[in-house]
Amino acid sequence: MAHDGVRVAVRTRPISKKEQQLGSKCCVVLDQARAEDGYNGTIFAYGQTGSGKTWTMMGNDEKPGLIPQLNMNLFRMVKEMSTEKEGGGEEEKGEEGKKAEETTISFLITVSYIEIYNEVIMDLLNPSDKKLLVRESPDLGVYVQGASLVVCKSEADVMRLVNQGGAVRKVAATQMNATSSRSHSVFTIKVEKRTFEKTEEKTKETMLTSKINLVDLAGSERASKTGASGDTLKEGAAINKSLMALGQVINALGDLAKGKNVHIPYRDSQLTRLLQESLGGNASTLMVAALSPADYNHDETLTTLQYARRVK
Ligand code: ADP
Ligand code: MG
Repeated sequence: MAHDGVRVAVRTRPISKKEQQLGSKCCVVLDQARAEDGYNGTIFAYGQTGSGKTWTMMGNDEKPGLIPQLNMNLFRMVKEMSTEKEGGGEEEKGEEGKKAEETTISFLITVSYIEIYNEVIMDLLNPSDKKLLVRESPDLGVYVQGASLVVCKSEADVMRLVNQGGAVRKVAATQMNATSSRSHSVFTIKVEKRTFEKTEEKTKETMLTSKINLVDLAGSERASKTGASGDTLKEGAAINKSLMALGQVINALGDLAKGKNVHIPYRDSQLTRLLQESLGGNASTLMVAALSPADYNHDETLTTLQYARRVK
């Protein structure tokens, strides 16, 4: 299958008050990163803890991040394209209106939100102790068995789930005596577009499914800096397992795009297993490498850029 490889965007956050107080100077200067819309595929936020991954995904009320922006554009598109108008007003239809009666378009939007911590998958929309598993079926494709799939009728529905899942992620991290920076979260919006074409003989129904994954990766920092030991170190290894596997998959996809005949090691981690359909094939992948501008993070910043370059 043809694949256009992986695109990489780099964004750096402004220097924080704390860093200014620490006397840190800015050692990174970049143009404003472009936020992209209209994706069918996966957007990753990669970088060390504190570099702005969650910010990139979420933003705030004044500066919405990728998830709210994508959400807004999605429902704008749905409103424009959907022929299932509320109230079903038929009055203002001319010649073109007739056509619209023959072809109807409707959308079904569902959201799931899971977390991968230590290679264990948890449902952020319906938290429990159950360890969820990645499954594959001819009908459903790759999915997390038992994870909630919530139907969303509006932008507000989606944002409610984003916030609900985000809060669960924080609580879960506290319970595990960890920080959410050690887990990967995968927010998925599935869009099913149904088209009904009526002709004299029959009605033809076609369905087009798009999936967009927004992945807030665990912090990419090395164990030494966080002072990890014992269990924490083991956990670090598990986190790096997913990050390393991801790097390898993306690398292999890059080789594939160059025409090489390579094996894509999707099965090496939960993250890559889950995302296998949205990485490669006709999917687009964007890696946003988040950088800390402070000089004391210089080493990590370099590592992030090297990772970003490797995946290109
Ligand atoms: P990460 O998720 O990578 O650990 P965060 O997204 O939580 O990092 O960002 C760390 C801090 O920096 C937060 O307080 C966040 O609000 C702030 N921050 C990050 N990026 C930006 C930005 N582009 N503009 C303003 N503040 C930012
Ligand atoms: Mg974060």
